[in-house]
Amino acid sequence: MAKSTHQPFDDWILSQRPLSPYQAQTLQQHLHDCDACRELKESLNGVERLFKTAPQVAPKANFTARWLERQAAEKLARQRQQAWIVFGIVSVNALALIILLGSQIATLIGSPTNLLLLRAYTLSLGVSLLELIRTFALAGFNLRYGFPLAGLVLFTGVTSFLSVLWLVTYRQLTSSTRSISL
Ligand SMILES: [Zn+2]
Repeated sequence: MAKSTHQPFDDWILSQRPLSPYQAQTLQQHLHDCDACRELKESLNGVERLFKTAPQVAPKANFTARWLERQAAEKLARQRQQAWIVFGIVSVNALALIILLGSQIATLIGSPTNLLLLRAYTLSLGVSLLELIRTFALAGFNLRYGFPLAGLVLFTGVTSFLSVLWLVTYRQLTSSTRSISL
């Protein structure tokens, strides 16, 4: 069979438009006789079937679960890191205060005002540390559900409070010329 005889049939097979009844009948007849065109038609059908079924192939359930698991693990790691940073800030702050108070304790005890300030400070430091421990204990308890962000906010709040108090205490301690009367 000559190559030219396939010509209208090739176009008809590949055409996206519906064929006229005459064209359809002629093509059916040609497909019956011509192996090359039948092969073309069959491979085209195969491709069309493939496109139709492809979107129905859903990703494995495991894939989604594993992806979510990894996301959660990464989030937890990030939150833990943040928690440690805040913990570090609070620790350094507390350590600086302890050193400061330790070095100035004699001076502090000399003045009733400073002693009051020291007591207030020690109390707040104790509460802050207890809060810190409590939040970390909760964080350990909630490890599976992720570190509570509220804990970080609390840490930051406590740290800010400590910093202000630290500054006030420090200024009290360093300004020997100024005296406070309550
Ligand atoms: Zn043909």
